[in-house]
Amino acid sequence: MGLKKYFLYDKKNSNFIPVEYNSLERIIYSACIWIIGGVVLCGLGIAIFSKSIGTPAEIALKAENEALLNQLKQTQQTIKKYDDELKQLAQNDNELYRSILGMKPISYDEREAGTGGADIYSDFDVYSEETADILKWTAENLEKMEHSIEIQKNSFEAIKRSYAANSEKFKYIPAIKPTSGTLISGFGIRFHPILKYRRMHEGLDFSANTGDAIYATGDGVVKRASRKGTFGNLVIIDHGYGYETYYAHLSAFAKGIRPGATVKRGDKIGLAGTSGRSLGPHLHYEVHKEGKAIDPINFLFADTSPAEYLKLRKIAENNTKSLD
Ligand SMILES: [Zn+2]
Repeated sequence: MGLKKYFLYDKKNSNFIPVEYNSLERIIYSACIWIIGGVVLCGLGIAIFSKSIGTPAEIALKAENEALLNQLKQTQQTIKKYDDELKQLAQNDNELYRSILGMKPISYDEREAGTGGADIYSDFDVYSEETADILKWTAENLEKMEHSIEIQKNSFEAIKRSYAANSEKFKYIPAIKPTSGTLISGFGIRFHPILKYRRMHEGLDFSANTGDAIYATGDGVVKRASRKGTFGNLVIIDHGYGYETYYAHLSAFAKGIRPGATVKRGDKIGLAGTSGRSLGPHLHYEVHKEGKAIDPINFLFADTSPAEYLKLRKIAENNTKSLD
């Protein structure tokens, strides 16, 4: 880019004389062109780049915003997890403790009542839609959980009082682990290790070595202590109130365990083994109510804390193979 050539008309000689610029003028002119060009280009560049990338401060803020949003999403997952566990406790509370004690169950609505709608969190509307939604969800669900925990706490207190008032009946309800081994398979549809297909597993399997002690899980009367088909050596205890417990695959019966004998919770009734149709030494344990097998996982509460109960429940659900 150079200076334009201008001409002056020389009337005397009737011709055009080119206008001469001195070198300083040329330098200033060139510098101006370069500076103006540079400024315009920079401005354009900033305008374009700031839209797509942003200033360093904006880039840092964006990264921070993204990290916070991810953290919020993780918190959401954690809340969901705890909420599920609370719901399981609530279900246990209703279906087990309250049902056994003849107490009225607390409805799901009642457990969640008293929490406001999403509109009370309109303060969050200043944020982007995604952030506002997550913040609203988090605030709302934390409030719900706080309420549920309060209800659950009060419910456990009521259950404890009722338990104390019904302690005579409770002696007879199966309520402890039948052996010291760990839980290896739960109640429900399981892959049968010997028959090689999926079928109903009507009890819990506990790990046990041959000869390990097996205990009565509630007070009652021995109904059976003999061999019975695939159960192998089986003890059945009648606890009254419609409850019976089954202890299968035993290697031997404890002294005095025969039909008609009375037992107390925690009494040794036999020794673990692998008699009957069994893949190896273990205890197969069933709880029956009115003649129907029900999930024994709900009948370990006397020696299981709610946290342990949730752990056992997970094991029972995740271990898809039984030893039968
Ligand atoms: Zn089993």
